[in-house]
Amino acid sequence: MAGMSRGVVRLTLAAAWLLSAMACDPPAADPESTFRKSGGGDRTRAPDIVLVSIDSLRADHLGCYGYEPETSPTLDALAELGARFENAMSTTSWTLPSHAALFTGMFDTTHGLVDNGLRLHPGHTTLAETLRGAGYQTAGFFGGPYLHPTFGLGQGFDFYRSCMTRIASDVSGADVRDAARAEDGGAHADVTGPETVRAVSEWLDGVDERPFFLFVHLWDVHYDYIAPPEYVQRFDPDYAGDLDGLDLMGNPRIHAGMAKRDLEHLIALYDAEIRFTDDVMAQLLAALERAGRLASSIVVVTADHGEEFFEHGSRGHAQTLFDEVLRVPLLISSPGRIPAGQVIEDPVQLVDVMPTLLGLAGVSIPAGVQGRDLTPLLMGEPLPTEPALVELRLDGRNVSGLRTRSEKLLTAGDQRGMWFDLNSDPRERRALRIQGQRANRVREGLDQKLEEALAARSELGHPGAEEVGLMDALRERLESLGYLEGPGS
Ligand SMILES: [Zn+2]
Repeated sequence: MAGMSRGVVRLTLAAAWLLSAMACDPPAADPESTFRKSGGGDRTRAPDIVLVSIDSLRADHLGCYGYEPETSPTLDALAELGARFENAMSTTSWTLPSHAALFTGMFDTTHGLVDNGLRLHPGHTTLAETLRGAGYQTAGFFGGPYLHPTFGLGQGFDFYRSCMTRIASDVSGADVRDAARAEDGGAHADVTGPETVRAVSEWLDGVDERPFFLFVHLWDVHYDYIAPPEYVQRFDPDYAGDLDGLDLMGNPRIHAGMAKRDLEHLIALYDAEIRFTDDVMAQLLAALERAGRLASSIVVVTADHGEEFFEHGSRGHAQTLFDEVLRVPLLISSPGRIPAGQVIEDPVQLVDVMPTLLGLAGVSIPAGVQGRDLTPLLMGEPLPTEPALVELRLDGRNVSGLRTRSEKLLTAGDQRGMWFDLNSDPRERRALRIQGQRANRVREGLDQKLEEALAARSELGHPGAEEVGLMDALRERLESLGYLEGPGS
């Protein structure tokens, strides 16, 4: 797969999907009208739904988002077969809260999962749960520690499996502490994409005729950057230095003032992981095709957050709320259901994914979901624009921001904050001081969003998140009293 050219991947993917979607119809001259006419598989049946979250993948490192190095032939082909959202934003810049937003359709302040000592409260209604209630088979496969069921994100899945080599899905008791330790150590160096596809293929062998919801978390783009050498060679063949992609956050050679050539190499190592994962994506789509379920699927690819390389002084993620960590890919493809070749400029957010998928599947959206069903945009109809609310708890302070297509305000609760004119300064280089009516308008927009998110939280009827440690202590106590039979019960 590594040697497959961009054109071949596109052709293979399009051909597989098209042929199965078109059934016996002769090919029409215009591929898009063919998609529209032919329909995706059996239209009387609810669609299969495949949601892929590629950890740490920033949108602007994909070909379909304008990146020059060839990181993403498969994702580019997917984008051409459906809709690509140009301005899709996460709710934050790290894994746990953004996946909670993806699964609940709620902003971080509302779902409450904003600290790594917390787990999602079972009182939430998740995407998987809602689809299961509508008759779907549900399965999730994950490759990184924060997706572990310990943090509550397995809620609603009939089958939820760890594809990490270091942390199994059925560990319990002290699992959070182990997972947290692994996050600092071994988990970063884990390579999980190939095992994830293998496990998904095995699961596909056993699915029945009912529609399914398949969630796949692909971890390998997340640091450490340790793609196979042939991938690295592709993106930086001339590098003569000795910097590797291990220990991004701890390596003292990696800092804001590091040599330019070493930084270029670091970014090439990241790009190599993207290409490696793009090939994993091709294998995942091939597995769906082999199982006869590609034509009936809506395939969504997104990311939980991006990655920064000292654009604003930091590395990795979970440090800032600049666009390099917020702007994520969002591709939604389903030939026959969704017109092909669309680029949608409207700002959208991860909270919109749940209601959109439910809308496309014809399933009612649960009360309390804050995201919007984007189906009208996918069908070429307008929706009122909605600014993105972004949040991060950093060193005990709550940083929040509001982003529209043209401007962004970031504030840690202080009066002024940082304001960026994204039209003239898309890289957020110059924080401006705005005053008067314009400042008031942006500020009021942010305050209103935050107030609504807080009010929604108070209406949940439960605390949103609960302490993982408390749960463990409770479990151990119950076990000691003989109420539980131990792991797996
Ligand atoms: Zn992540």
